[in-house]
Amino acid sequence: MAEVIVVGGGVGGMAAALLLARDGHDVRVYERLPRLGGKLAEHRRDGFTFSIGPSLLTLPGLFLDLGVPLDLLELDELCRYRFADGSVLRTYRDPERTAAQVDALAPGEGRGWRAYHRWAERCLDASMRSFFAGPLPEPVAEPSRPRPGDLLAVAPGRTLHGLSGRFFRDARLRQYVDRYATYAGSNPYRAPAALGCVPAIEHGDGGWYVRGGLPRLADALAASLGKAGVEIHLETEITEVVAGAERVGGVRTAGGEVVRADIVIVNADAACLYGRLLPDRARLRRIARLGLSSSALLLLAAVEGRTEGMPHHSVVFSADYRREFGDIFDRRRPPEDPTVYIACPAVHDPAQAPPGAESWSMLVNVPAGDPGRWPMPPRAYAELVLDRLADRGYDLSGRLRFLDLLTPADLRDRYGASAIYGGAYGGPFAPFLRPGNRGPRRGLYLVGGSVHPGGGLPLVAMGARIVAALVRRDLLRSTRRTGKARG
Ligand SMILES: Cc1cc2nc3c(=O)[nH]c(=O)nc-3n(C[C@H](O)[C@H](O)[C@H](O)COP(=O)(O)OP(=O)(O)OC[C@H]3O[C@@H](n4cnc5c(N)ncnc54)[C@H](O)[C@@H]3O)c2cc1C
Repeated sequence: MAEVIVVGGGVGGMAAALLLARDGHDVRVYERLPRLGGKLAEHRRDGFTFSIGPSLLTLPGLFLDLGVPLDLLELDELCRYRFADGSVLRTYRDPERTAAQVDALAPGEGRGWRAYHRWAERCLDASMRSFFAGPLPEPVAEPSRPRPGDLLAVAPGRTLHGLSGRFFRDARLRQYVDRYATYAGSNPYRAPAALGCVPAIEHGDGGWYVRGGLPRLADALAASLGKAGVEIHLETEITEVVAGAERVGGVRTAGGEVVRADIVIVNADAACLYGRLLPDRARLRRIARLGLSSSALLLLAAVEGRTEGMPHHSVVFSADYRREFGDIFDRRRPPEDPTVYIACPAVHDPAQAPPGAESWSMLVNVPAGDPGRWPMPPRAYAELVLDRLADRGYDLSGRLRFLDLLTPADLRDRYGASAIYGGAYGGPFAPFLRPGNRGPRRGLYLVGGSVHPGGGLPLVAMGARIVAALVRRDLLRSTRRTGKARG
């Protein structure tokens, strides 16, 4: 059995560690922070708990199948979208109920929504078969043979915005579809249409909350690691992947200790691996060419009183989406008129706030990088965001007990990664250009949101399965080789 080291205790790293420990390997996880979970994290103050990472879980079966116990709550209303003209679209787990809401918003467009949903299901099926289930095509070692039908099903060559225009005439419904690009920190006017398959997941398998907050998923994973005998080293930064020309040999900790391993799985961002841990300029350049995904300004609002009719998830849209993404990705400034996502978990889980109060985690998409370059300081920008929200019916004046902020610089310093999702999906073929799961030395693998198949909790869980399968396959091959050499 092999000695395995996992660098980083994010969800992808933990899931990979669990799978390999269950295969009988000797697994150690090294995490620079004092806790496991990476971006799946929360902020607590004065009895308020705020999500500072994921607040919606999809495909929880990916974790349940690993034997990770979760206390799940399925959401009936998935999200409430409020458009700049004041109109509202409520989406539900039930696709037909959602289609009726679409018709109520824009008469006649319910048909378009049903057609879009059918397309999303086909696209999801094709992606699950041809893209999410295995490593990126490795031309020499493992030619992948996606079915031609699968390639067509993902609308190759089309952008997400192009896709929304195919199904909807109403600009608000196009904005609703275009928003799915932000699930991957990308720009809908450049991102591939395939990102539009997300509703097939949300309306097919549901949108979920983990009671006590989504970080309980990280706790449950951590407990499973303990049971599987994985050794955890917290507050231990890895500064180098030790490797020869051919294969990996272990890692070096910030304290200078070299720990030997047959297999190293890097859950830190790919840019961190190729920039610092095992410098590789060519690979780093390839990552840079993708362009960074967006980052976030998080406004964590302790709100007095309960808000009548408030849903768990809301999106308050800007008036001009194209301009908003131009600000984020081209002018590289926080949007003048931002779209704001609000999670209010007290709706289903009152313990997330003191009695009679609410904790609102609000997320504004902003460019990755230092807010020092913004036209105004983050605190002043947050005031602008609150003003915009007040104009659109979410007035918190007189109700704020406190407002904490997390800027892109805070997120970067916490996780050692500039952007939330690594590279952006900046073109129709972007999904195939992300760094792969196999590293440039034998025994080196990558897992997590910055590499194939992408970011978000379900995808990093799929990435962990891909990496575990690669490790199994490679170990089998090397055993056969050694066996032959001996024989
Ligand atoms: C604000 C926000 C909202 C989000 N919302 C959602 C959502 O609603 N639903 C959803 O599914 N996803 C969401 N995501 C995305 C999701 O959180 C991530 O894609 C996923 O958690 C990333 O997991 P990962 O395996 O890549 O590990 P990460 O979370 O990136 O963790 C990597 C870990 O490696 C550690 N590390 C880095 N370098 C080193 C080193 N040198 N030595 C040791 N340790 C190191 C870091 O400290 C970190 O803990 C959101 C993310 C953010 C930030």
